[in-house]
Amino acid sequence: MLGCLVVMTRFAAATRLSNFLDLIYPPECAWCQAPCELTERLCAGCRARFVSGYYRCHRCAAPLPQVLPNHDCARCRQAKWRFTRVVTLATYRGDMRRAIISMKRNRFEPLRRAMADLLGQQLLLEPQHTDALPLLIPVPYHWSHAFSSSTNTAELLAQGIATTSGWPIAQRIVRRIRKTSKQGMLSWAERKTNVRHAFSVKSPDGIQGRQVWLVDDVMTSGATAAELARLLLKAGAAQVNVAVVARGTGVRESGANVAKQ
Ligand SMILES: [Zn+2]
Ligand SMILES: [Zn+2]
Repeated sequence: MLGCLVVMTRFAAATRLSNFLDLIYPPECAWCQAPCELTERLCAGCRARFVSGYYRCHRCAAPLPQVLPNHDCARCRQAKWRFTRVVTLATYRGDMRRAIISMKRNRFEPLRRAMADLLGQQLLLEPQHTDALPLLIPVPYHWSHAFSSSTNTAELLAQGIATTSGWPIAQRIVRRIRKTSKQGMLSWAERKTNVRHAFSVKSPDGIQGRQVWLVDDVMTSGATAAELARLLLKAGAAQVNVAVVARGTGVRESGANVAKQ
């Protein structure tokens, strides 16, 4: 009983301290620094900004020009995607493009966590097709990336999504076995060739019969995701989907870095 009282007293003290600190350092939005709710990482305005209400192809998440619920885009009607579905927060442009570029820097870690949390919440709305929890697989970088100064954004996003969703991450199941050229300047046919045989499934046992979500920051052409989906399905995955913070359209903005996939 005494122990319980001590714990409660400490908890009350910690809560008072936390409330006091919130008065001195009120929680800030990870993007615009406006004050925001204690439980949120982004203010209401930025959440609305980064979770776009655009109508999207229900398969590849490309923005659609008009209200066509559960509709494929023209490309999906012809393409034989090996992934089933793409979930995204918004189109890769404007503030979202700037946020994606910022997220690669360590000092924007709160923003990256905020985006991962928003994406995790979207994934929890998706149907689960297997009894086992879906597996998160970050799109793997080449091993030499570890020697660069850039963060492994896909892996960090997957960790954030795992925290929100409670889904496991499978990090060593698939690896990138050769470096690929930047996809941005390549045609669709060149992109497919560029990523063909760029990955290998290292331990297929972990994905047998599982629903897989590939995680990355941006998907543009879908060539990388399609190649990974082909491999993972061949290795025994029940279904492969894609979760990306932003969906690139391949249309350049002035001064924009073209997204990679
Ligand atoms: Zn904000
Ligand atoms: Zn589509």
